[in-house]
Amino acid sequence: MSERVAVVGAGIVGVSSAEWLRRAGFDVTLIDRLEPGSAEQTSYGNGGILARCAIIPVPTPGIWRKGPRMALDPNQPLFMRWSYLPRLLPWLLRYLASSREAQVRKTAAGLATLNLDTVDQHLALARGTPAEAYVKPGLYAYVYPSRAAFEADAFGWDIRAEHGITGQALEGEALRAWDPNLSPRYKFAYLMEDHGIISSPGRYVAALADWFQSQGGHIQRADVQAVQALEQGVSLTINGQSQTYDRLVLATGAFTDALSRGLGIKAEIEPERGYHLLLKQPNFMPKQALMVADHKYVVTPMEDGLRIAGVVEFGGFKAGKSAAPLDLLRRSIRQFYPDLTWQDEETWLGYRPATLDSLPLLGPHPEHSQILFAAGHQHIGLTAGPKTGRLVADMMAGRHPNTDLSAFAPDRFS
Ligand SMILES: Cc1cc2nc3c(=O)[nH]c(=O)nc-3n(C[C@H](O)[C@H](O)[C@H](O)COP(=O)(O)OP(=O)(O)OC[C@H]3O[C@@H](n4cnc5c(N)ncnc54)[C@H](O)[C@@H]3O)c2cc1C
Repeated sequence: MSERVAVVGAGIVGVSSAEWLRRAGFDVTLIDRLEPGSAEQTSYGNGGILARCAIIPVPTPGIWRKGPRMALDPNQPLFMRWSYLPRLLPWLLRYLASSREAQVRKTAAGLATLNLDTVDQHLALARGTPAEAYVKPGLYAYVYPSRAAFEADAFGWDIRAEHGITGQALEGEALRAWDPNLSPRYKFAYLMEDHGIISSPGRYVAALADWFQSQGGHIQRADVQAVQALEQGVSLTINGQSQTYDRLVLATGAFTDALSRGLGIKAEIEPERGYHLLLKQPNFMPKQALMVADHKYVVTPMEDGLRIAGVVEFGGFKAGKSAAPLDLLRRSIRQFYPDLTWQDEETWLGYRPATLDSLPLLGPHPEHSQILFAAGHQHIGLTAGPKTGRLVADMMAGRHPNTDLSAFAPDRFS
């Protein structure tokens, strides 16, 4: 009989893990309090970019100086809900300490392990399923006000180049021809191949979950209150009742600490709040996805309109949407595309699972190898979800992946 595995969390990381585990021959139950692909999931509202190049974390050298200034300026993409600061402070200080160059390089190397073959990994997961229709390989461009602004980001671009991530510069007439709608304020773009988008991240997650179920996987809608390691197997508390499985994967994104503490693991994952504006029926769309580099948000042509996604806000789970980050996105896109108009708009808030060193927790519990962590993918969960799922299935099946995963050890903060 196949071993029974519970995967808690049905965002992109959990759905990918469940499907790869099913393919590896496990009897898998995917458990979430939400519908896979629903609007409350972070995996629904992200920028949709298969961001091969996204290996540079938010904290980089100089953040101690720049960060406080940015958090006080409503024209900068970093916001703080000040009432939350006392609670956040111990975590924040450790997070900022990860801005040292040596740590940034270590983080970049770890993220490169998960990101570099993102398009192939999505195709390997989705090919032959209805989800494949949402995977759109293509270019990704960083757009800057000037070449000097691009060069000021040399620290990140040099590290990317060391990992083989390079692109082509576009300026002047060539830039105007490439995107005639661009404001003249923007004078430089850096175009990279081997990227892509998911044209509707929510529907993609839902389609993967439907496929998983149609092939014999089980889906349970439930809130998991606690998890406990047994001598053999695991016990999940759901509605006060215990359910037992042989093995467990925690793919619970920003909510991981609530369950991991009962297992003696401090995941130290903070919800890094991010926003999107979906501009419906715009009068035009760019051909491919862009990063507006000075305000650090992405512009992605999606099935339902033009999605503008980004902004980092610290403020926990409880507070609702803040007006200022959405206002910044609105002001900024008008500056970027002065002729853009739209009929209607959707606004969204989600929680990036941010760890102290911007690397996910990926691997077995140090004492209970039947429990595996796959959480904390901060800005790159959509990009790295399918590869993460494949690594989870390899580890559980005892197929040692030919990859050094030590940087992702789940107990490194405990
Ligand atoms: C504005 C914004 C833009 C982004 N843009 C990009 C992008 O362009 N490219 C990219 O790669 N990434 C991007 N990201 C990051 C990406 O969206 C996340 O890293 C990713 O969605 C995390 O996926 P996940 O499966 O770990 O978490 P989630 O999608 O949050 O899923 C976790 C699931 O676990 C469930 N859960 C948790 N605890 C329990 C429990 N106790 N019981 C039952 N269920 C539970 C939750 O209900 C949830 O459904 C962006 C994020 C934001 C906010």
